[in-house]
Amino acid sequence: MKPDKGRLYIVATPIGNLGDMVPRAIEVLQSADWVAAEDTRHSQRLLAHFNINTPLVAYHDYSDDKRSGQLVTKLEAGETIALISDAGTPLISDPGYRLVRRARAQGITVVPIPGACAFVAALSSSGLPSDRFIFEGFLPAKSQGRKKVLEQLSGETRTMIFYEAPHRVADTLEAMSAIFGAEREAVIARELSKAFETIHLAPLVELAAWVRADGNQQRGEIVLLIRGSKGGQSTALNADAERIMALLLAELKPRRAAALAAQITGVDKNVLYDWSLQQK
Ligand code: SAM
Repeated sequence: MKPDKGRLYIVATPIGNLGDMVPRAIEVLQSADWVAAEDTRHSQRLLAHFNINTPLVAYHDYSDDKRSGQLVTKLEAGETIALISDAGTPLISDPGYRLVRRARAQGITVVPIPGACAFVAALSSSGLPSDRFIFEGFLPAKSQGRKKVLEQLSGETRTMIFYEAPHRVADTLEAMSAIFGAEREAVIARELSKAFETIHLAPLVELAAWVRADGNQQRGEIVLLIRGSKGGQSTALNADAERIMALLLAELKPRRAAALAAQITGVDKNVLYDWSLQQK
C-alpha cells in the first residue's frame, strides 16, 4: 500500500533573540524526519540549543532540481520535512520558493508555522503607516541598479520596506534622499530583538547624515522603511526635468527655478531644489 504523503512545514525561527522561538516550532522540528536548512552548520547550533536531534539536509533555491526532487520524493514517501532559514521566516528574502511550489504541485500539504520576520517587526514598531505597504527585499548592490529601482518607486504612495546590508546603508539613504526628497520620513530598524536594537525615525536627509556620522549605525542587520509619496507630484528626477532646471537656473534663483520647473515637469519642487544645490 502506498504510504500517505508527508507534510512540508515552513518554520519561522528567531531573528536574534532565541526567546522568540515559538513552542510549536520546537515541536515540529523535533518530530520532523528531516530539517531542511540553507546553512546546516548555522542551523545545527539553533537545533542544539533546543535539544533537537532531527537530521539536517541542505536546501537552497539554487540547489539543482535533483535536490528539490529528492526532498519531494521523501515527502511523497510519507516523510515530514521542516524547512527553516538562517533566521526569521523562510521564503522572505530566503530560500524555499521552488521547494514549496514543487511540493504543492505534487499535492503535498504545506503547513506554515508563523513566527519572527524582520520586516513585520520593523513595520509594527516604526510609526509609519502600516495599513498599506510594499516589501522590496534587498535593493541591487550597485549604485546604478539601485538608483533605477528607487526612481521607479518614487511615486509609490504605500510605505516601502527594504532589507539593506550594513556597508551600503549610508549610501542607500543618501540615494533615497536625493530621489524621494530630503524631507520624506524614513526609519532605520537595526538589530531587532538584540542587544543594540535601534529604531530611529527622521526625514531622509537627517537620517542619512546621522547614519553616515555614526559607524555604529552601519553595523548589524538593518531594515529601512520609507513613508510613501503623498501622491500628486512625482518625486522622481528625470533627464527632462534636469535639462529644464539647468536652463532655468541660468536665469533664475534656485527656488524660483524649482517652482517653475515643478509646474512644467510635475516633479516635486523640493526634489528639484535639492538637485540644484548639488549642481554647485
Ligand atoms: N527571512 C528573514 C525574515 O523573515 O526577516 C530575512 C532574511 S534576509 C536573508 C536577512 C536580512 O533581514 C538582513 O540583512 C536584514 O536586512 C534583515 N534582518 C534579519 N534579522 C534582522 C534583525 N534582527 N534586525 C533587523 N533586520 C534584520
